[in-house]
Amino acid sequence: MEQISYNSTRGSIRGVSASEAILMGIAKDGGLFVPSRIPEIENVFEDLKYMNYKQLAHFIMSKFLTDFSSSELTDCIDKAYDEKFDSKEIAPVKEVGDVFFLELYHGPTIAFKDMALSILPHLLKTAAKKQRIDKDIVILTATSGDTGKAALEGFSNVEGTKIIVFFPVEGVSEIQKRQMNTHYGNNTYVMGVRGNFDDCQTGVKNIFSDKEFGTVLEKKGYLLSSANSINIGRLIPQIVYYFYAYLHLLKGNVIEPEAKINIAVPTGNFGNILAAYYAKAMGLPINKLICASNENKVLYDFINTGRYDSLREFMITISPSMDILISSNLERLLYVLNNEDTDMIKQFMELLKEEGSYEIPPDMKEKLNDFYSGFASESDTHCSIKKVYDSYGYLIDTHTAVAYSVYKKYLEDTEDRAKTIIVSTASPYKFTSAVMSSLKDNFKRMNDFELIEEMNILSGVDIPSAVKDIESRPVLHKSICSINEMKQKVTEILGI
Ligand SMILES: *Cc1c(COP(=O)(O)O)cnc(C)c1O
Repeated sequence: MEQISYNSTRGSIRGVSASEAILMGIAKDGGLFVPSRIPEIENVFEDLKYMNYKQLAHFIMSKFLTDFSSSELTDCIDKAYDEKFDSKEIAPVKEVGDVFFLELYHGPTIAFKDMALSILPHLLKTAAKKQRIDKDIVILTATSGDTGKAALEGFSNVEGTKIIVFFPVEGVSEIQKRQMNTHYGNNTYVMGVRGNFDDCQTGVKNIFSDKEFGTVLEKKGYLLSSANSINIGRLIPQIVYYFYAYLHLLKGNVIEPEAKINIAVPTGNFGNILAAYYAKAMGLPINKLICASNENKVLYDFINTGRYDSLREFMITISPSMDILISSNLERLLYVLNNEDTDMIKQFMELLKEEGSYEIPPDMKEKLNDFYSGFASESDTHCSIKKVYDSYGYLIDTHTAVAYSVYKKYLEDTEDRAKTIIVSTASPYKFTSAVMSSLKDNFKRMNDFELIEEMNILSGVDIPSAVKDIESRPVLHKSICSINEMKQKVTEILGI
């Protein structure tokens, strides 16, 4: 098989192996690693149809991680997709009304981040062994709520690693916060930040690009890496479930072999939908990638105008995992759209940093035609939850509702009747207040934890172990810092 190497979107690092790229997390020039080419796999769907999730994961991931042996990859996949998931299918597809929900929340922390973060620690450990790294790997993570807990779960007690999570104190749901600050592990650290998600992510990126600090860490035997979707090891496992969902429809004779499907993704940092874009580039028959924003609609504006403008008010919404104004993975899309012109990417990113905005030229904008984008207001989101529940007795979370709402707008705009997958990124049990208050006013008087029971009665869906008794678990992490103290906190935690 032809080898695939990885290049930085900003041009100064080229030709590193998959394991090196995963270990580094982000390139030293501030760019993100991208594959040297996208492997194509056309006309094999008949052969893939009867594969289970793990077999399919092996098939897809081996195309990208070409320096991993087949047995190394099997080992990582076996350790990731096991009984931690409460569905044997791992990523079940549910037909509800005229759409198909791809439920990506059956992992240990009941959000889609588990799909990649249950395997990333194993990929990292394998990569470290291959590269003969004997340093302790320190994972720095910024989270808008879900990555944090999923990363804690994935890296807890993994020998040779430490994980530090920064989350915005005012920017996550009560249940998300409780999931993180009650987490026990002998190598896990959780820190609230007085700021929003963008502040946390920028803070982490700044620590990564601080060369002096990097040298100090190295001398002390530490290697920094990332569990955010800036790490290519997060993106590749996410490609798998798009194939899985398509094959599910094909197998069930819901679609003809030549038909294309649409995919609607609730989007924040652009990681999940970028994985769908890569799937399309590999040959998955996708018509439109529907990029759904909440009221932080930078991506909606960008896709419709070609201008990326982060200078606007940061809104705290009921879909907090999408409350992001600086969408990191867009950089990877720009790299494809401008034929890998790294100088241009550097310019855009410089402009974004200095002036808060940039605009792409018309020929690049034309290539955004693979995407349709819309946004959902807070009331659109509430209404979608109520409509789906009232019509079908199926309860969706706030993020999934954003995608559903935007899909309905797409239908009105285009009358495109192609079968559509709505990506369900979290369990409604993670956002009980916002979900239940969409259904009945009485629920507004109850807190997130009381509403867990109510949701169980109303939906008939078992309470996932991730949130069972969560209110009575001891809070272990109480530290809060300012944006400027993040580096200092890392120093203290590592004792350097
Ligand atoms: C992270 C997250 C998103 C956004 O995904 P991106 O890859 O950042 O675009 C959407 N919904 C939920 C529930 C999430 O946790």
